[in-house]
Amino acid sequence: MRAARTVLISGASVAGPALALQLKRHGFAPTVVERAPELRAGGYKVDIRGTAIEVCRRLGLLDAVRAHSTDMAGGSYVDDTGRTIGELPADIFGGRVEGDDEVMRGDLARILYERTRDEVEYVFGDSIASLDDDGDGVDVVFASGARRRFDLVVGADGMHSNTRRLVFGDERRFKRHLGAYISIYTAPNHLGLTRWETYHALPGKLVCVYSSAGESSAKNLFVFRSPEELAYHHRDVAAQKRLLGEAFAGDGWEIPRLLGHAADADDFYFDSISLIEMDRWSRGRVVLLGDAAHCASPASGQGTGLALTGAYVLAGELAAAGGDHRRAFAEYERVMRPGVELNQRMAEGFVKEMVVDTRWKIALRMFMVRTLPRTPWKNLIAKKIRDDIQKAANAIPLKEYEAHEAYGSHEPYGVRGAYGAREAHATGRASA
Ligand SMILES: Cc1cc2nc3c(=O)[nH]c(=O)nc-3n(C[C@H](O)[C@H](O)[C@H](O)COP(=O)(O)OP(=O)(O)OC[C@H]3O[C@@H](n4cnc5c(N)ncnc54)[C@H](O)[C@@H]3O)c2cc1C
Repeated sequence: MRAARTVLISGASVAGPALALQLKRHGFAPTVVERAPELRAGGYKVDIRGTAIEVCRRLGLLDAVRAHSTDMAGGSYVDDTGRTIGELPADIFGGRVEGDDEVMRGDLARILYERTRDEVEYVFGDSIASLDDDGDGVDVVFASGARRRFDLVVGADGMHSNTRRLVFGDERRFKRHLGAYISIYTAPNHLGLTRWETYHALPGKLVCVYSSAGESSAKNLFVFRSPEELAYHHRDVAAQKRLLGEAFAGDGWEIPRLLGHAADADDFYFDSISLIEMDRWSRGRVVLLGDAAHCASPASGQGTGLALTGAYVLAGELAAAGGDHRRAFAEYERVMRPGVELNQRMAEGFVKEMVVDTRWKIALRMFMVRTLPRTPWKNLIAKKIRDDIQKAANAIPLKEYEAHEAYGSHEPYGVRGAYGAREAHATGRASA
């Protein structure tokens, strides 16, 4: 079988550009197609911890990631009048340990894009319309009408993956709604926050406003329970803004003002908190990566870390297998799946914690927030939270994959032979 060389990646957020970066290093020729007309801004602050920190280090991204750290100092809960109920430092809020980091999703996507844009072909404003895998390659027809043939296709196009729909079928077969929705957008920082997040809890709802290091604006974040799935299209932003307004209609504190900012937000994000669960992530020459394969939901706090790690593993396995996609895809899935499943199970628990459903549970939580900093068992509770999060963040054993000697050449890693030696090396070490 001819070694794979050309790889079409659908999606230019986190998983897609991270894969392109690493494939290029291994001597492949990646092309990234993104439906949006330009790199998409916006999104939540995302945790980079455990294995994902090591992936960033190996990809040479860690300094850039650290330079964009949100550097949050902590957060507080407020009541209806805006009075502070209790404050918690950032490490307890985030379950972080020394070395973990947090960046805005948009900053991370930009770092990855800027690292790759000169060496990787990016096509914005287009999308895969159909693909035909004949066993030797994949013929792709784009929405623009362009036709091209690639050795492999990777769907890194998120929870609502177009590639997954085309190859594996309807999203409803794989998506499991966890009973809540999340929305976030940039807004004026009228609360005057600096590296601080302010939470307000209501039965079945949570509102958070925060501003991270170096930001003059704020992010308005809303989470609300909805056991039933809401009817709207995932690209119908007007409908999403309306649904958000309906969910928080009549609520107090700063909520009417915060909602008012949604109308002008050009980075408005709204989605269900859901898992994507699939029996397998590849079919023939097409493979899924990141949220497209295994969305763990915002409740996991690990979607971005898993996307980065998956990109590193998939590129590394393709290189180690000398471009033999069958071996590479099988090994990629074997390495990733147990860690992915652990994170998905954690997300199911966290989503219930994120938004409590009754007034007395909110009162209990506020009591804990108020008293926790003063209790002698504060460190024990913080340690328990940290240990659970760290276990999940370090669940994927990371091998070392050699970069192609002639970094930047278009010759695939495997074509030079001696795959055996490289694979022995590649399968040797686990750092976590
Ligand atoms: C604008 C934006 C905001 C986000 N905000 C949050 C947030 O607040 N909280 C949170 O937990 N997660 C958020 N996410 C999801 C988060 O980025 C992912 O969970 C995680 O980083 C994994 O990334 P991914 O690259 O696998 O998928 P995603 O980040 O979802 O990226 C998928 C990419 O594929 C593109 N795409 C979609 N369809 C097509 C198509 N047909 N053809 C080509 N490209 C396509 C999308 O435009 C996007 O750039 C956001 C994603 C985006 C794109």
